[in-house]
Amino acid sequence: MARQSARWRPSELLLPTPAGLYCPPADIHIDPVRPVSRALITHGHSDHARAGHGAVLATRETLAIMALRYGEGFTGSQQVALPGESVRIGEVDFTFVPAGHVLGSAQIAVESRGLRIVASGDYKRERDPTCAGFEPVPCDIFITEATFGLPVFRHPPAAGEVAKLLESVRLFPERTHIVGAYSLGKAQRVMALIREAGYERPVYIHGAVEKITGFYQAEGIPLGEIRLVSESDRKTLGGEIVICPPSATQDLWARRFPDPVTAFASGWMRIRARARQKGVELPLVISDHADWDDLLATIREVQAGEIWVTHGEADALVHWCGTAGLKAKPLHLVGYGDEGEAESEGGAVDAPAA
Ligand SMILES: [Zn+2]
Ligand SMILES: [Zn+2]
Repeated sequence: MARQSARWRPSELLLPTPAGLYCPPADIHIDPVRPVSRALITHGHSDHARAGHGAVLATRETLAIMALRYGEGFTGSQQVALPGESVRIGEVDFTFVPAGHVLGSAQIAVESRGLRIVASGDYKRERDPTCAGFEPVPCDIFITEATFGLPVFRHPPAAGEVAKLLESVRLFPERTHIVGAYSLGKAQRVMALIREAGYERPVYIHGAVEKITGFYQAEGIPLGEIRLVSESDRKTLGGEIVICPPSATQDLWARRFPDPVTAFASGWMRIRARARQKGVELPLVISDHADWDDLLATIREVQAGEIWVTHGEADALVHWCGTAGLKAKPLHLVGYGDEGEAESEGGAVDAPAA
């Protein structure tokens, strides 16, 4: 029997290590949380995309986002992964496929000797006007997050949540509506959804959201007229919409607007107690992660016989897989946040929730 052609045991092709998922035959890590010689990065959120690797392979957009956040020297060398095209490293083929999470986000299919493992990174299934939609890839093993992996998490359509925001703006034309939204992805998605709903006034932003928003616009995503708050007189912003990092909604910064209405766009807003605890007057359940139903639908769709769960509510999802006759295990990967992914700009850090 030719040794080279023997099928891999899964853990020979990909295994969890303290630095992240590691592929021994290619000597690469996926989304490593420590500096490594060669990293493949699924998307630009700071818990997945870190500076200091020897080489990075990622989509063009993710590389650009990393350069914006960390500076051009964020890695020794970089290589663009084209969506759908495989890159061979050693005897392993890596293919980046859209994940529908934020601009440039990708799942990574790892394939060798007839075994295909898909590391999906963070993903969602709901339509998002700011990024390419998730494409299911049939595989032997599907690696999924479980940020919202409990039946209580069912995200309503985002358009309905944005309609609530616009209705509040209409009802309270004297008050500034301050929307907390993560600076990469969520903020721009809220802007795009506001435009789809027909809102045409300028949207105001906190400085921490500026760079990434400018990048989205340069990529041709229509966000309408965007203005920096710092260039405006806040007293004149009654009735306007201001988008800022979540932590800024609780700062002194937010109190200087006329009678502000505090909103927060997050999957966590499904939990009313959490909204109250954060002082959120207008919770908007808008998430860039799959909810419970979409996690289950995706697991069925990719037809994998085995599921590995990276982070989030792993236990509930692993249990469900068992009842569905699927092999499943939690990987207990450390270092990945939930939707409260650490913000790397403007000192706006929102700690992951317990
Ligand atoms: Zn993410
Ligand atoms: Zn994440």
